Amino acid sequence: MQPTSFKPYSYESFPSSGLVAYFSMEIAIHPGMPTYSGGLGVLAGDTLRSAADLGVPMVAFTLLHRKGYFQQHLDAAGVQTEQIQPWNPADFCTEEPARITLLIEDRVVTVRAWRYDLEGRFGHVVPIYLLDTDLDGNSGWDRGLTDHLYGGDTNYRLQQEIVLGMGGVRIANALDLKVNVYHMNEGHAALLTLALLEGQLGGGPLRMVTEADVEQVRKRCVFTTHTPVPAGHDRFSTEQAMRILGADRTARLQQQGCFRDGLLNMTLLALRFSRYANAVAMQHGKVSREMFPEFAIDTITNGVHAPTWVSEPMQQLLDDHIPAWRRDNLYFRNAIDLPVGKVLEAHARAKEELLAEVGSRTGLVLNPKVLTLGFARRVATYKRATLMFTDPRRLVEIAETAGGLQILYAGKAHPQDEPGKALIQHVVEEAAKVSSELLRIVYLEDYAWGLGAKLTAGVDVWVNTPKRPYEASGTSGMKAAMNGVPSLSILDGWWIEGCVEGVTGWAIEDGVTDEEEAQSLYRKLETAVVPLYRESPEKWAHLMRTTLAFNASYFNTNRMVKQYNRNAYYPERLVEKVKVEEEAYAV
Ligand SMILES: *Cc1c(COP(=O)(O)O)cnc(C)c1O
Repeated sequence: MQPTSFKPYSYESFPSSGLVAYFSMEIAIHPGMPTYSGGLGVLAGDTLRSAADLGVPMVAFTLLHRKGYFQQHLDAAGVQTEQIQPWNPADFCTEEPARITLLIEDRVVTVRAWRYDLEGRFGHVVPIYLLDTDLDGNSGWDRGLTDHLYGGDTNYRLQQEIVLGMGGVRIANALDLKVNVYHMNEGHAALLTLALLEGQLGGGPLRMVTEADVEQVRKRCVFTTHTPVPAGHDRFSTEQAMRILGADRTARLQQQGCFRDGLLNMTLLALRFSRYANAVAMQHGKVSREMFPEFAIDTITNGVHAPTWVSEPMQQLLDDHIPAWRRDNLYFRNAIDLPVGKVLEAHARAKEELLAEVGSRTGLVLNPKVLTLGFARRVATYKRATLMFTDPRRLVEIAETAGGLQILYAGKAHPQDEPGKALIQHVVEEAAKVSSELLRIVYLEDYAWGLGAKLTAGVDVWVNTPKRPYEASGTSGMKAAMNGVPSLSILDGWWIEGCVEGVTGWAIEDGVTDEEEAQSLYRKLETAVVPLYRESPEKWAHLMRTTLAFNASYFNTNRMVKQYNRNAYYPERLVEKVKVEEEAYAV
């Protein structure tokens, strides 16, 4: 028998006081707040949602992004235009009275914070502080420092990183928060170490810093890297560092080995000042250790927040059969016994909801019986959105054999990413050329959280075609798995760990050229995906169940946050007896 409610508790054990302070340039906090651009922000939001569910004593810092990440419009030719999305912080957040100041490029900049209370399922709150420089007394330029996520040039970026890292630490102090651990989610927040170092010196000049001071900072810092290629790491010139940070700080960072190839490297800075660092998938750990061989880099594979990404119909099915999934995602393992008919029914409802959304956005009526593939992600050239069009004739043949094929695309290109924008046009052009009654290809505008949830839940197969090893992890395939939707993907990032051939989806085999990998994609569709889809719904439902059991039970932030607690935040507490509430319950 299932009890109807559980006493709020966490079976993790935390120190009796003190917090983890989580720093991230972007956080997907609420669907109505355009404070994120893609995977990094969604991961940060899912991390905090799970921390709130698990009762982890945590707070978070990010920038307000008052003008919002852009809304995407596409014309009939697939040409992207962008519109800023200003939002009103007071609609979601409470302004904190505290003010702190920062020295940026010899200017004194005042910073405030807006608090958003993220509440977990048992009522535990993780406060998120959104830093804001739009204050009287700041210059016009400075008032705009917290306006645009990934906007402007590298001067703007470095100044934003000062607000995030150094401003966050100072706001935490002003609010009298007791922080045990500072967690830098990607290198954007690395300058928090500088604020801690300056705090360690009690305001004295940085040239007085000793190894013991550095060690005191290191003891409190942990760092997660998300970037698998050198060019992806945030870097600034010596001239920029001297001008914006100042000569004293720049000299200290040089002395501490935070420069590489003459550039201030934010990953290196974060690594130098952290006692623990991790990558976000096993393969990414390997790549990261090769890039930074002088550091020990552990791996904690990413996850997604299950209740955020499991569709409503699938949630109902899970609640009926495995209600414990909500408090502990390991119970997804028992999806292996879900009634096959019910799984198909839940998926059919999620698919209907998706196709209704497509209809209301585009006026197109798609067929719920037809095999539907999904491909949606931030448009970057390495993700190869056009790989599926390598041989359009073969795609048409596959659609004919399958009795129809529907492919749904979505994704924004960064406003300054011209090759990315050209890719969207290319997809739209190719789609127009090959589309027919049997093969329907649709590019949906304005990919964001809500559309992402509908797509990953409602398609039949999730496709991902990154060029190895550029995908650090990827998380959209995990969202699909949460809904029993198998992936057909390149073996990169998380999929190396998640792919069990024919059980959780299929691997696109490695080739030397894009062309060879496209051939493998077609072959898998022809020999595995289409035959199984056509052969029997029951067998397809078995695949959905094994996808849930294998991958939803593991690739979730419930597991991931526990790993951060045990390996990164409080490793020494492993040996302590885990505290479980006395209250008895039957499962
Ligand atoms: C999940 C998600 C992403 C990240 O997915 P990837 O697989 O890493 O590309 C990006 N954007 C949105 C809106 C998402 O929901």
